[in-house]
Amino acid sequence: MKDFKVKFRGVRGSFPVADKKFLQYGGNTSCVEINAGGHVIILDAGTGIVKVGDELMEKYISSALEVKDRTPVCASVLLSHIHQDHILGLTFFKPMHLKSSKISIFGDGNDSDILKDNLTNLVFGKTFPLDLNDIQCELDIHNLDEDYVILFKPDCNAQLVKKDELKPQENDVIVSFYKSYVHPQNGVIIYKITYQGKSVVYATDKESYFGGDKKFVQFSKNCDLLIHDAQYTSEDYLNSHSPKQGFGHSTYDMAIEAMRQTGAKNLVFFHYDPSYDDSKLDKIKELYTSQNKNVYMAYEGLELNIE
Ligand SMILES: [Zn+2]
Ligand SMILES: [Zn+2]
Repeated sequence: MKDFKVKFRGVRGSFPVADKKFLQYGGNTSCVEINAGGHVIILDAGTGIVKVGDELMEKYISSALEVKDRTPVCASVLLSHIHQDHILGLTFFKPMHLKSSKISIFGDGNDSDILKDNLTNLVFGKTFPLDLNDIQCELDIHNLDEDYVILFKPDCNAQLVKKDELKPQENDVIVSFYKSYVHPQNGVIIYKITYQGKSVVYATDKESYFGGDKKFVQFSKNCDLLIHDAQYTSEDYLNSHSPKQGFGHSTYDMAIEAMRQTGAKNLVFFHYDPSYDDSKLDKIKELYTSQNKNVYMAYEGLELNIE
């Protein structure tokens, strides 16, 4: 059995922060690296993806002395949505600028709202020295359609397969997803990565409903790890001077409730408000992780084995 590992690379929401009061949890925006069955699956391309790229480059360079003998970088980037904090690091993901790399990007899109066009407008061209067409690697960009899943066979390529035609084999990694409308203005994709009977759910930029989100509960039922938005304390969320209701983010209590309703075995709080420094997050940790078993604070570098 190959590894199923989750590594947190950027845990911050909204915008990156660089200050000594933020070093413990980290200031990079959303990015989680998953290694499952030998595949590199990167959830979101916030500034945390830069370090993932640097490490993949090191691995590539050390794979052989001669360039022609090196093992190409092969990775898939799954975007929850295209808010800045989730795409800010994409153009600085170095393997994308190597001719030999094979990179696939998946995210929300349809015939009239094409992911490739959105990325062209948002991160390439006028906001970066290169156009999308100048990118060196073998790059494919896919709109996600809920009738499909992303299938990773034990070779490099990720492919979209119709749900009703899926015949999973033991060593396949399957990514299922759906679009949730809990995040303004265009919603967010919730992902579930399944490998050898274990599953990880990535639910960032997700606000909960009163009484719980029934579709989400069904989708995430009994997952092994739930990575859940936890941008605000309940106090900040409900603050009468500056309420955060409707901003599309959850509280720590909502994330705990999602864990309870889904039956998730482990929960990691994710996507911290950029104003929450280490001391505030330490207090939150004290409050929530001492009272609840299998609940963890995300921080840059946190690595979990799914077993
Ligand atoms: Zn965000
Ligand atoms: Zn967002």
